[in-house]
Amino acid sequence: MDAKKVLENLKQRFPNEPEYHQAVEEVLGTIEEEYNKHPEFDKVNLIERLCIPDRIYQFRVTWLDDKGNIQTNMGYRIQHNNAIGPYKGGIRFHKSVNLGILKFLAFEQTFKNSLTTLAMGGAKGGSDFSPRGKSSAEVMRFCQAFMLELYRHIGPDCDVPAGDIGVGGREVGYMFGAYKKYTREFQGVLTGKALEFGGSLIRPEATGYGTVYFLRAMLKTKGMEIAGKKVLISGAGNVAQYAAEKVLQLGGKVMTMSDSDGYIYDPDGIDREKLDYIFDLKQVQRGRIKEYVDQYPSAKYVEGQKPWFEKADIALPCATQNELNEEQAKALVANGVIAVAEGANMPTTPAAIKVLQDAKVLYSPGKASNAGGVSVSGLEMAQNSQRLSWTSEEVDAKLLWIMENIHDNCVKYGTEPDGYVNYVKGANVAGFMKVAKAMMAQGVF
Ligand code: NDP
Repeated sequence: MDAKKVLENLKQRFPNEPEYHQAVEEVLGTIEEEYNKHPEFDKVNLIERLCIPDRIYQFRVTWLDDKGNIQTNMGYRIQHNNAIGPYKGGIRFHKSVNLGILKFLAFEQTFKNSLTTLAMGGAKGGSDFSPRGKSSAEVMRFCQAFMLELYRHIGPDCDVPAGDIGVGGREVGYMFGAYKKYTREFQGVLTGKALEFGGSLIRPEATGYGTVYFLRAMLKTKGMEIAGKKVLISGAGNVAQYAAEKVLQLGGKVMTMSDSDGYIYDPDGIDREKLDYIFDLKQVQRGRIKEYVDQYPSAKYVEGQKPWFEKADIALPCATQNELNEEQAKALVANGVIAVAEGANMPTTPAAIKVLQDAKVLYSPGKASNAGGVSVSGLEMAQNSQRLSWTSEEVDAKLLWIMENIHDNCVKYGTEPDGYVNYVKGANVAGFMKVAKAMMAQGVF
């Protein structure tokens, strides 16, 4: 394979999808050497078959708002690759959603799911509908309309969606209810469900906890720990909240959280009581992060900015893609950052990754460090198949094992001659090899 040629070809065939191109470029750049050790891969054009999704569903979603107006949105499901298990990946509801963003997410998901050791292929879906500012009744009607189209394409052994940005327990519940009604079957077809109808303990916590378990494993390679470290977190949603919780449990100090309007910085740290306030603010009140400073006036709110210029030891980007750029990475390095672990998907731009890696900062890509969410989704599928529920201790222990195993694989495939671990390369090569071998064994489709 000539990675540059493959990428140019994809750009020509699928223009105007920059995030997809970015994700493919990052992976190809790191697997090219390993791929070329296997001439049998190129003989069957494995790389193009792995980069281009198996199929894409695209549909109109029509729903009624509270004022009686008919609204339309776009709905998508990308089934990227099912070589190692049923398609699996979240659903995102956000106004920025488009085909290119979902293609990048589905592509990444394929490697991430491979890394977990569980039998899951890669997929992603979503809509340009944003639940922000909508009533619960509107969200419910939208979810029902969305599922009216999607239910034909998913199933517990075919494609199992989950949550992502804008899709939490409420939205999963509404979509599950709709699926059950349309199909007249009670099946483990979505993960992230509530405990009462097949959800798994620790699923809400899994992505954030897993990110911090991965961070801990990275720090351990340098003989360091989280206790006493100052941590910058972006986002204030599911991933950010539980990453903050685990940092606190391990003795770290959380300095910031954010949303798409700005960030808060608390010089005294966001302690347990303050984090409980944020949980309530985001999960129950559905408020904005700037309200934090009304409650805790010693903190500051910075409108329209990201938290990366603040001084800290660790950064955990947990909001969205491309939210940490080159200039911000330089500021982190200048301020002595030790580690950057991604809770979000592709939050660090390629130029920023280079800055961090050149400075030998411990840096982990989301497909490795945020794989805890989909891992516990996989465990939820296992529990649904058994019609059993495991204890939170059991699930948490499995999550920890999976995250440490992913870390070990990254070290195995990503350690460079000078001893620095290139976690991007490690994750990409480890994830790729398993999918590639499965595709080779199954023939050409
Ligand atoms: P949530 O919707 O719960 O929270 C998202 C957070 O990010 C919110 O605080 C939101 O602010 C902020 N945000 C969203 N878009 C932007 C933007 N364009 N600029 C700045 N801030 C933004 O989502 P999750 O916490 O579930 O997901 C966060 C990230 O983690 C995503 O990249 C997702 O793909 C990834 N991820 C999630 C997993 C999961 O299990 N949930 C699993 C693996 C990865 P606002 O309220 O203003 O929109």
